[in-house]
Amino acid sequence: MHHRIVIIGGGSAGISIAARLLRAGQDDVAVIEPSDIHYYQPLWTLVGGGVSSLEHTRRSEMSVMPKGVRWIQDSAVEIDPDQRHVEISSGSKISYDFLVVCPGLEMAWEMVPGLKEAVHTPFASTNYVAELAPKTWELVRKFRGGTALFASPGTPIKCPGAPQKAAYLSADYWQKTGTLAGTDVIFATGAGGIFGVPEFAKVLSSVVERYGIDARFSHELIEVDPGRRSACFEITTPDGKTRQSIEYDIMHTAPPQRAPGFVRESPLADPSSPFGWVSVDRHTLQHTVYPEVFSLGDVCNAPTSKTGAAIRKEAPVVVANLLSVVDGKEPVARYDGYAACPFTTARGKMLLAEFDYSLTPHPTVPLVNTKKERTDMWLLKRFGLPFFYWNLMLKGLG
Ligand SMILES: Cc1cc2nc3c(=O)[nH]c(=O)nc-3n(C[C@H](O)[C@H](O)[C@H](O)COP(=O)(O)OP(=O)(O)OC[C@H]3O[C@@H](n4cnc5c(N)ncnc54)[C@H](O)[C@@H]3O)c2cc1C
Repeated sequence: MHHRIVIIGGGSAGISIAARLLRAGQDDVAVIEPSDIHYYQPLWTLVGGGVSSLEHTRRSEMSVMPKGVRWIQDSAVEIDPDQRHVEISSGSKISYDFLVVCPGLEMAWEMVPGLKEAVHTPFASTNYVAELAPKTWELVRKFRGGTALFASPGTPIKCPGAPQKAAYLSADYWQKTGTLAGTDVIFATGAGGIFGVPEFAKVLSSVVERYGIDARFSHELIEVDPGRRSACFEITTPDGKTRQSIEYDIMHTAPPQRAPGFVRESPLADPSSPFGWVSVDRHTLQHTVYPEVFSLGDVCNAPTSKTGAAIRKEAPVVVANLLSVVDGKEPVARYDGYAACPFTTARGKMLLAEFDYSLTPHPTVPLVNTKKERTDMWLLKRFGLPFFYWNLMLKGLG
């Protein structure tokens, strides 16, 4: 099998790229994607917050696959960029002239012993696994007080704001139901602060204070004892590292994450990254060694925030540069690192943090001060962005 352009992964990035390539007149595009279901993952936060249902976050993969693209419903298992082919699990090899790598990332459960077992007990959950997001809401809804622990790794994960959004939506619900007064809400993160952009960090710190959340930074979750409901953290201080265990009544967690195995083990992986992200030029998104290979989305090592919002700006750059390379020209389109994190700080309130590589605010919504919590931004998150995703972004129109 040979295709002029092969895309690995039919998620947010892969479908956006395929649709844009078709619109640009490319007629030999194949997408390797094993799943029957396509998810709009940003809504999983609202599923865990009891505001949306899992059904609202998914559609059939067939319904989003652009007509005219060849869908190879299988998993890539090996990439050989020297021979320019991708092996799929059936054993077939698909050769390509140009390759776009966007299979997302995988949960690295074993990096925290006991974590996977813990989220399958009745006392812990994660919004990072589709089937478990409704369980988060059940835990929150039935909670009657005690210690509620929200843990987040300091290593790169998709939507790094999502673990604290889970804490805010839970605290908001407990405030309304009177449970918050008898609850210790702890947000423990391996990161050194609440957020990397000072303007937004200031607002988020006031949200933390409003709910009385005990925010602990430089706390990396390293082990969980699900039976004792005890989470062990490694704490980095100016004097070195110490350990501390926190006993929880309920816990929400984000597992550490990394590139899928077939990417980590391929020559495309960044050798300096323990997570195996695809090595790209952070502006052109072209591979640093193989000029016919591009990568975007969660799997690439562009030092941005791994979000669908970033993909919205990465996709046109990848397509423009790929088409330049197809024509034998240099890639000149540049991605500026734009990403956005919609912080749902309460039911009906959202702070839209938009920024770029310079880590300064980069607002794109005209005439609206997005540097504060707003109701209209909540409506954007709840209704506007899903509409935009299904009807424009996945069709290569936005
Ligand atoms: C709880 C949560 C909240 C979030 N909130 C937001 C938010 O508010 N705003 C925002 O912008 N982003 C948010 N995100 C992040 C956003 O969903 C991701 O950044 C985005 O989906 C990444 O797109 P992608 O195409 O790189 O990967 P995905 O969309 O995950 O797609 C990867 C695709 O590759 C396929 N695949 C996997 N392995 C293989 C293989 N071996 N071969 C072929 N195909 C393969 C998968 O089946 C999948 O379809 C959130 C994510 C989560 C989990």
